[in-house]
Amino acid sequence: MKVATGKSILNGIAIGKIRIYKVPERVINDSLIEDTDAELERFEAARVRVQDQQMVLYEKALVQAGEDAAGIFMFHYSLLDEDEDLYEAVNEIITSQKRSAEYAVKTAFDNQADVFSAMSDPYFQARSTDVIDVENDVLDVLMGLDTMSMQGTEPAILVADDFAPSETVKLDKSLLLGMITREGSSNSHTAILARSMNLPTLIQCKDIEDDWDGKTAILDGYNHCVYIDPTDDLMESLSKKQQEDIRKEALLQDLKGKSSTTIDGKTIRVYANIGGPSDVGAVQVNDAEGVGLFRSEFVYLNSKTDPTEEEQFNAYRKVLETLAPKQVVIRTCDIGADKTIDYMELDHEENPALGFRAVRICLTRKDFFKRQLRALLRASAYGNLAIMFPMIISVREVVECKAILEECRQELKNEGVQMGEIEVGIMVETPAAVLCADELAEEVDFFSIGTNDLTQYTCAIDRQNAKLEPFSDTHHPAVLRAISMTIEAGHRHNCWVGICGELGADLSLTETFLRMGIDELSVNPTSILPLRKAIRGIDLRAEG
Ligand code: PEP
Ligand code: MG
Repeated sequence: MKVATGKSILNGIAIGKIRIYKVPERVINDSLIEDTDAELERFEAARVRVQDQQMVLYEKALVQAGEDAAGIFMFHYSLLDEDEDLYEAVNEIITSQKRSAEYAVKTAFDNQADVFSAMSDPYFQARSTDVIDVENDVLDVLMGLDTMSMQGTEPAILVADDFAPSETVKLDKSLLLGMITREGSSNSHTAILARSMNLPTLIQCKDIEDDWDGKTAILDGYNHCVYIDPTDDLMESLSKKQQEDIRKEALLQDLKGKSSTTIDGKTIRVYANIGGPSDVGAVQVNDAEGVGLFRSEFVYLNSKTDPTEEEQFNAYRKVLETLAPKQVVIRTCDIGADKTIDYMELDHEENPALGFRAVRICLTRKDFFKRQLRALLRASAYGNLAIMFPMIISVREVVECKAILEECRQELKNEGVQMGEIEVGIMVETPAAVLCADELAEEVDFFSIGTNDLTQYTCAIDRQNAKLEPFSDTHHPAVLRAISMTIEAGHRHNCWVGICGELGADLSLTETFLRMGIDELSVNPTSILPLRKAIRGIDLRAEG
């Protein structure tokens, strides 16, 4: 037995034969041609055919992986539009350099891919892979290559250096047990698609060998590895684990489209926590009823420079538009403490968790804050937005945040920008907010309880310090009492109250939260269906 390790992007087990997926070499003839009109026609026919293919792939990905993941094929489609520079460049090479359509496509697309990869923005860098992906599709049509046959006809774990997004979608899922790649990143579109399709996948597996082809293997996503020619004992134990996963998964799938209602008829909202547009597929696939926490700081963390209003607007708009009419609660930037960013040039602090962070930064750096609020208000026209402010300790802060929000709204109104109705809320994650919850509730539409920080600040336990684990109690009565007090105070003032910290997904507390009167629980997308299942099994008429 051999073991190779990598990075798993999904907990799960795949068992079966390995198939090495090798793309045939595309040999390009660079000799001069006579009939340029014929080459232009060949390119035109291939271009139209690949655009048609992209639409088919878009529809397919929409069903398999949701709007966010499918959007990539619309981008591919647009790359081949007649008014795009690439189209011009290919035509130009054929006519003035008298080269074949294949040569022109390869040259023009490679140049464009180089331009993208030289950009500093990681989003545009990643687009170079898309350009190469479309280039290969056009070349395959021109050269009559059938890449589909590389998958074979038997169910298998496919192994490759990497998969282009279009390859991932083109693959016949009924024959696909799992995927292993030598390259790839957790945020690549292939990873997003694999995650959305619930397919065990191992990336960055550097020890792939050609002689694995045809061998029996177990891809163990829980342990980030693949076993080639596994022992009988391992086969038996991991087969059992796989069957257990399948059984659990099937039960959960039945809950899609159903409400999160207790046996006695109390319905709450089960929302998802996300970090950005790339998580939207998981929201859809796991049937979240909305987003209860979009940690917008990831938009800042994923950028090398301070993101512009336009960049932020695009990220928020994408999420809102894709999920509309579902509500999306976007938390304003919560930088500081464990989330530091070089370009923010924050001073070193002795006590960063108690330091210059979240709204404290935003209220000090007003232009920075206004850029985000303007982007959010502009995006509000595209869906059902709610905004919440983190790390609040006083009514004064909320009043100031709301005043700046209002200032932005007036500016945009004067600029003639359309905006939607929004709810405004705060995170309750400090003991000060809990103790002032009645006054705070007068100012907002909702509270979202951040139990991660609330536990840290209530129990004076640094959430980053693993050494403190023996002293930490996530069910500490003080934290549970703080949650209950917040819910009661919110309800006294017509505020709805949710939980977006990790405790919201703790199934041993679901009944307790329901009895306290919680209105919404926002959890990691993969916890949505297990949580809905737990809620549907609770009867609040029974003794608590
Ligand atoms: C929390 O503190 O519970 C929370 C949801 O925010 P974060 O984990 O991002 O600090
Ligand atoms: Mg927090």
